Order: sequence, then structure tokens, then C-alpha cells
Amino acid sequence: MFQNNVKPDSFKIEFKQAKDWLCSDGSTVNHKPYIKFLRTDIESIFKSKGIKDPYLKERLIVAQVYPFKINQHIIDLIDWDHYHFDPLFQLTFPQPGMLLPEEIARIEKMNEANATREEIAQAISDLRSEKNPAPANQSSNRPMVFEDDESYECEGLQHKYSNTCLMFHKNAQTCHAYCTYCFRFNQFVGKDKFLEKDSDRLHKYLSQHTEISDILITGGDPGTMKSDIFDSIMSPLTRPEFKHIKNIRIGTKALTYHPYRFLTDPDADATLECFRSFIDQGKHISIMAHFSHYNEISKATIEAVKRLREVGCNVRTQAPIMRYINDNPLVWAKMWEKQVEVGMIPYYMFIARDTGPQAYFEVPLAKALYIYQEARKKLSGLSHTARGPSMSCGPGKICVMGREQIAGEDVFVLKFLQGRNNDWTDRVFFAKYDEKATWIDQLEPAFGEKEFFFEKEYKEIIYSKTVKEEKQCQTSLV
Ligand code: SF4
Repeated sequence: MFQNNVKPDSFKIEFKQAKDWLCSDGSTVNHKPYIKFLRTDIESIFKSKGIKDPYLKERLIVAQVYPFKINQHIIDLIDWDHYHFDPLFQLTFPQPGMLLPEEIARIEKMNEANATREEIAQAISDLRSEKNPAPANQSSNRPMVFEDDESYECEGLQHKYSNTCLMFHKNAQTCHAYCTYCFRFNQFVGKDKFLEKDSDRLHKYLSQHTEISDILITGGDPGTMKSDIFDSIMSPLTRPEFKHIKNIRIGTKALTYHPYRFLTDPDADATLECFRSFIDQGKHISIMAHFSHYNEISKATIEAVKRLREVGCNVRTQAPIMRYINDNPLVWAKMWEKQVEVGMIPYYMFIARDTGPQAYFEVPLAKALYIYQEARKKLSGLSHTARGPSMSCGPGKICVMGREQIAGEDVFVLKFLQGRNNDWTDRVFFAKYDEKATWIDQLEPAFGEKEFFFEKEYKEIIYSKTVKEEKQCQTSLV
């Protein structure tokens, strides 16, 4: 909301000539311009590496369903001599196991029978819809903005936890490469996306909600936004009416997928200046950096982290635990240790969300707990700051704290790190130990309880929110 409806002086992006980066030790990081490769390039990427891939046909089908995009920086980080087992290959290239054999056969049959584009598109859309494209009841997090003569839902905002509001800017609805396990694939290929065309409604909503202290700019990847968009979101927040807004979090994988974004890209200097100016005005910026494996920590990444820290940003790291990519305590220990060494703060280990190709990547809760605990044992306190393993599910962020024998029963000790009802935060509860369970809905309450303590209230919250919104919409239409 701008005073007198006048927007601040418009911020001009200053594109500079891309140049190599000179490191403080006198060495150089060569600039890599961002060039993307899509599904139709998969075959030529293999050819350029002299590889005849036995699963090419399946990969191309999987890439019809889940989005594929990669760039030269990631291609160069893959060990092509052992690509089947390479974690970054698994992270970015479509894997046959991401669809069931019968699902692959269904699309293959249609391709071979020369089905029309519309028929194939419909079959693919149906398949995506079966993969729980918008998990954790996220649509119920969309908030309403109230004005004198109307009220409306903001499609591109989410407000689930009282202190934090998520913003999905339309210019952040892509990533420099796509993760095979992407839990936001619906943002790229689906329906009912979270999208905000600009930041006006965000500011309006924030001015009505002084309980909010944090904004998480997310996507896709806001690292793909240019500096003028960052400025349009952040600059108004330095005005007195937004003094309750303390922290901006930027959820990004650009530090691993395209670190040149903060280093040598034509818009890098302007972006860093925009962050510096916001911080100089008393606000905090935390880069919520997505790192899946220590192999992603390239020299360019390390230099980009240094630069972000020099302007005053904190860099916190998070990732889901995924089979074939990082389901090993040694990987997490080495990754967290390296992150701390170069100035980052390990923040979260997540459990694979119940969406998309979860069945291929998922790790049972029991194994995730083992990996987390074993990784922590290998590190000093400074490096084992990450919380987890945590499920971001409808009721909140639920952490698997441990496995214990209590009153003769083998149980998981669980805890809300955050709750949809703030009173649930930090509450500990128990589920029967289950070696195979991969998500909260597969767990049963321990000690003969019929349901978990929050279930009834959670259902009521979701129900009453739906009813309230329907009523508000009807009223605003009258
Ligand atoms: S960076 Fe995040 S949004 Fe982008 S592809 Fe990976 S998981 Fe999806």
C-alpha cells in the first residue's frame, strides 16, 4: 500500500557486461552465461558425452509428465563416467522409476499410435492430477484481503503460520534447473497455481496483519527474478507502516543451480545492492538455500555465498532427504560441515513430500531418523544445527525426534516445530513405531489412542475456513 497511492521512484535495473569473477586469493571463477536445455535436448546431451543411454525412451516419457530443465553448470558437475549413480544426475535427469511401468506403457502406447497432441496432453494431465500436485492442503492457506467494497482471496499468497506469509511472485515461477523430486511441479505444469502478478496485494495484506514479521518469497525460484522485482517487493516495506516486517526470506536454489546469478550475471551487482540497501534500513534478509548434496558446493557457489554475506544476508540451508541422492549420513555430515566452513547455517532436513514422484525418492521415517542422528554424531555443535527430519504437512511442520520404548511400546517421538494452530508448536506426541511409514498419514497414534491430539481440531479449522471463505465470497458478490 503506497501513501497517496504513489509508488516509490521506480528502480532501474542496471545490466552490466558479464565478466569473470576475481576471488580474494587472486584466482578466477569464469562466468557461465545461463543457457537452458529442455526435454528435446536430452538425447544430444547424452550424445555429447559419448553415451548410449539404455533408458532414453523412458526418460523422454517421464519428462513429458514432470518438467525437465538443466543448464551447463549442472551438466559440468555430473560425473558422466558413472552417471547412473551420480547424485546430481538423479537430482535433475528424469529417471524411469519416477513413473510406474504401466504409466510409462500407457504414454508410450499413445506415442506409438500417433495419438493427437490433445489426447496425449489429456493423458499427461490426468497422470499429473493423480500425483497429489498441491499437497498439505495448501489452497486453504490462501488469505483474504478485505477492502471497503470488496474482499478477495489472494491466489499468490499463503498464510499458514501466524508470523510468516509466503509470496509466489509471477516472475519467480521457474527455476534455473528443475529437481526431479520437485514438490512444486504444479507451479510449472499444473492448474490452480499460486501466483501473484505484482506485490500490491502482498503489501495490502501485510498492512492489515501486523502479526506477520516474516515474508518468504518463494516460487519456483525467486532467484530467477530480476532486481527491479525484488525492489518492488522490498522497498515499500521500509516505510513506517511496515515496521512489523522484520525478515525477508528468499527460498532459492540459485546458489547451486546458477551461482553466477549473485556473482557475474549482468544483474548481479544491482541485486546485491538492492539487498544491501534493504539491510542498511534495518531489515534482515535470509537466503533459504536449497542444497541437496555436497557436490553442488562449487567454487562459484562459495564465492556467491561470500558476496551475499558481505552485503549482510544470512544463508541458511535446507533440503529434503531423497533416495539415490542423499540417503546416507556421510553425505549430510559432509554437506553440513562444508556449508558451515564457507559461512552457511544448516537449517532443515525435510522428509520427501507426498507429491509427484515421492514413491521413487521416498525414505522411510525410521531410516531418515537414523541418517539424521548418525550425521549429527559426526559433527561438532556448530554443524548440526539443522532441524529434522521434518514433514511439512497440513497440520504443520512435524519433526521425528526419536524412537523410544515407552510403557512397553515401541514408539516414534514426534514434535510440532510449527503448528497451524500456534498452540500446537513444540507439543510432543507419540506414534506407534513403523519401519515402513514414510508420511504422517501412515502413522497410528501410540498407547491405544484413536487419533492424534490435533486431528479433530485440524479438521474443524479446514472446514470452518472453507465455509467462512464461501460466505465472504457470496457477501462480496451481493
Ligand atoms: S528448486 Fe524447488 S521449486 Fe525449483 S525445481 Fe527444485 S524443488 Fe522445485
